[in-house]
Amino acid sequence: MYVVFRCDCGRAMYSREDVAQKKCVCGKTFKIKSRRIIAKTEDAQLASEKVRELQEEKYGGAYFTTADKM
Ligand SMILES: [Zn+2]
Repeated sequence: MYVVFRCDCGRAMYSREDVAQKKCVCGKTFKIKSRRIIAKTEDAQLASEKVRELQEEKYGGAYFTTADKM
């Protein structure tokens, strides 16, 4: 299983459930078990999709609105 969670900096990411620690791009390292888990998925593909959804939620989907506005 894979778990989806957020860093304190707000970035969403995922990791295998059995990985003890994860380092964010912001430089913060934390224990997976101490994070609040947002979602669990069966595979990495689903986990990465979930992370993308969470990032779009946070940033308002700004990266993906261009085509609609043309
Ligand atoms: Zn971070």
